[in-house]
Amino acid sequence: MKCPHCNTGIHEAFAVSTIVTAPIVINLANHAIAPGLIWILNHQRCPECHDSIILLERQTIGVAWTDWKPLKFMAYPRSRSRPIAKEVLDPYRQDFSEASKVLADSAKASAALSRRCLQAILRDRLGARKKDLNDQIEEVIVSGKLPSHIAEGLHAVRNIGNFGAHALKSTATGTIVDVEPGEAEWNLEVIEMLFDFCFVQPALAAKRKAELNEKLKQIGKPLIP
Ligand SMILES: [Zn+2]
Repeated sequence: MKCPHCNTGIHEAFAVSTIVTAPIVINLANHAIAPGLIWILNHQRCPECHDSIILLERQTIGVAWTDWKPLKFMAYPRSRSRPIAKEVLDPYRQDFSEASKVLADSAKASAALSRRCLQAILRDRLGARKKDLNDQIEEVIVSGKLPSHIAEGLHAVRNIGNFGAHALKSTATGTIVDVEPGEAEWNLEVIEMLFDFCFVQPALAAKRKAELNEKLKQIGKPLIP
């Protein structure tokens, strides 16, 4: 698995301890029975960054309880950190970082921030002129500036977000509106692809060109403009 703090691949080795056991509850008034509960704490320390990873797990005992699904979730950290390349600047960096942080607590808030971030990148870095996100995505896809995997990713932002049924999503930047399952996560994935394309790769290309020009200069050849 990957450490949610530092994203290093680590061997999963949780130490397991039971923290709370609650008995079965019988309601004498209506004879309803609630199952007994066990809360289990799974703890592991990352060998790389030395921080804790804590999963909480709830199990039911004593009664078959079809209404309650097994529950296991990450209690600490609340959500996986998403590393941001140093080449990515503000405000894109800040919006993305905030959108990843709030994802565990509110997919709606996260999606509002990630849609705003997407709009800013499409407008500032990819030349979109239209006002709303739906049209901006169309504009940028049609322009052919993006490699096909990113264009497809952007297309999916509209499909997964069901933009057709939620006009507000594409017109009211940063507004909290309902999200579809998986929408907030997908927006972050696509922004990561755009960060790479719009910030990281151009910086790498500029560095390579500078190195090449340095060599050309040394051997007295014309430089690449
Ligand atoms: Zn770590």
